[in-house]
Amino acid sequence: MSQAHDVVVVGNGSLGLSLGLVLARRGVRVAVLGRPHRPGAASSAAGAMIGTFGEVTTTLLKSSHGRTKLDWAYQASKLWPEWLASLSPDSDGTDLLTADGTIVMLNTVGLPEIDTENYRAIRRALSEYGERFEDVDAEDVDWLDPEPTARPLQAMFLPHEHAVNAHSLLVRLEQAFLAAGGVVIPEQAVRVDRVGDRTGGVTLESGTVLSAGHVVLAAGSATQAVLDTVPDQAAVIPRLVSGYGVSALVDTIDQTAPRSVIRTPNRAFACGLHVVPRGSSQVYVGATNVISPQPRRTALVSDVLFLLDCGVRQVRRNLGRSDLHRIQVGNRPVALDGMPLLGETGLPGLWMMTGTYRDGLTLTPLLAREMAAVILGEESTIDLELFRPVRPPIQPLSRAEIVNDTVTHMMATGYETNWRLPVDLPLTIEHYLRLAYTRIADEFDPVFTPPPELLASSRIHLSIAQSLRDYYAASKTAVAV
Ligand SMILES: Cc1cc2nc3c(=O)[nH]c(=O)nc-3n(C[C@H](O)[C@H](O)[C@H](O)COP(=O)(O)OP(=O)(O)OC[C@H]3O[C@@H](n4cnc5c(N)ncnc54)[C@H](O)[C@@H]3O)c2cc1C
Repeated sequence: MSQAHDVVVVGNGSLGLSLGLVLARRGVRVAVLGRPHRPGAASSAAGAMIGTFGEVTTTLLKSSHGRTKLDWAYQASKLWPEWLASLSPDSDGTDLLTADGTIVMLNTVGLPEIDTENYRAIRRALSEYGERFEDVDAEDVDWLDPEPTARPLQAMFLPHEHAVNAHSLLVRLEQAFLAAGGVVIPEQAVRVDRVGDRTGGVTLESGTVLSAGHVVLAAGSATQAVLDTVPDQAAVIPRLVSGYGVSALVDTIDQTAPRSVIRTPNRAFACGLHVVPRGSSQVYVGATNVISPQPRRTALVSDVLFLLDCGVRQVRRNLGRSDLHRIQVGNRPVALDGMPLLGETGLPGLWMMTGTYRDGLTLTPLLAREMAAVILGEESTIDLELFRPVRPPIQPLSRAEIVNDTVTHMMATGYETNWRLPVDLPLTIEHYLRLAYTRIADEFDPVFTPPPELLASSRIHLSIAQSLRDYYAASKTAVAV
């Protein structure tokens, strides 16, 4: 059986559905593919903070690519009210919001090089953008009740950074997509099909063939499996791995929840500890981030223990006596150079819209609008070319800076888990980690160095190390040709 569409979007997460919606509203015959329960999706496990400034780190501000990402998040955050309001004729969309602003706290946990510096970077970025924020008394943050040794030192309130209920958002996106004339196909794509020298469509797991002039791969970290069916393109596009993350929904024992998001800056390779209100007596606690060669469907016990321990010690002690409603697992789409993959591949008609890592949900309305424009042959208002999929590795930092970040973040994971060592031992560990990571980076390639979390994970996962080598070699051949 064969069906025809103008565009087929592979992936029914926040990005795929949003792109489908914009295209359908523009009169395009578009189908969105994906199993209804969204196995492995990042979007469903997300706290769904619409976080622009809360996500800022010193590293982000150091490079032009990082600055661009910040700017996009800023632009996207301004689109959210109208975007939410457009999803249903019966609601102005504010019912999807779960939080009123964000408290960013700097607490005693972690490292000054990461936590304090990132806290300062957030303030710097807020000032640069002229965005309003208020310092608040760290001892007086509503709902916060950490153990004394994890007390906050400073805190600020970001009145414009909210959060949405990710599950309800996905339901509403799908309803809006169907109402706009889009077609939902509850199946996965297994293969991209070619017709001559361009994209012809996809084949589904049932064997159904969908023909389409444009196929957009937006299946999150699982995109790699579909892209691998086009080997010549897979070789020259940075592979996707998973930033596997665990989050938890907790029904609070005292049936309370904070009014705002309460979070730390991003820290120790992860997205910072955050608690997001989900109704009057439930909170979302997130999130871990571990680089994994393949998407994961289940949570490791160690990650659950770590996450909940952080929540109980650093945010609210009585969370430990509350009901664990659900453990959620999601896979952030992470390209080997850590940057988004947006635009057409070298096979005409085959597009990618993924690699958004930690902040894909925030970027949704902007990326959906812009990707729809370029697929329809229009100019983009943002420079999507920066992140075109076929590219040599983007490397915003020098090797020495990357090694330094890797060492600092590895050390931070120790301090975050409250390790207790003789006072001089961390200096020795740091020294040897620096030697080891420098050697690993030198062995990879004379020029390219992967981002810190990939450098660290390449030591553990040999398949990631091999993918990095292959991609670096292919990039050089492509440049030479
Ligand atoms: C724990 C966690 C917390 C996060 N918190 C935030 C946050 O607060 N704010 C923020 O902005 N971002 C956050 N993120 C990141 C954000 O979720 C992602 O960047 C973004 O949602 C990715 O969306 P996506 O649609 O590209 O991919 P996904 O949400 O992963 O969706 C991909 C979909 O494609 C489907 N699929 C897979 N294979 C196929 C196939 N072969 N054919 C068809 N469909 C397929 C999957 O089942 C899935 O439903 C978080 C991520 C995690 C894991």
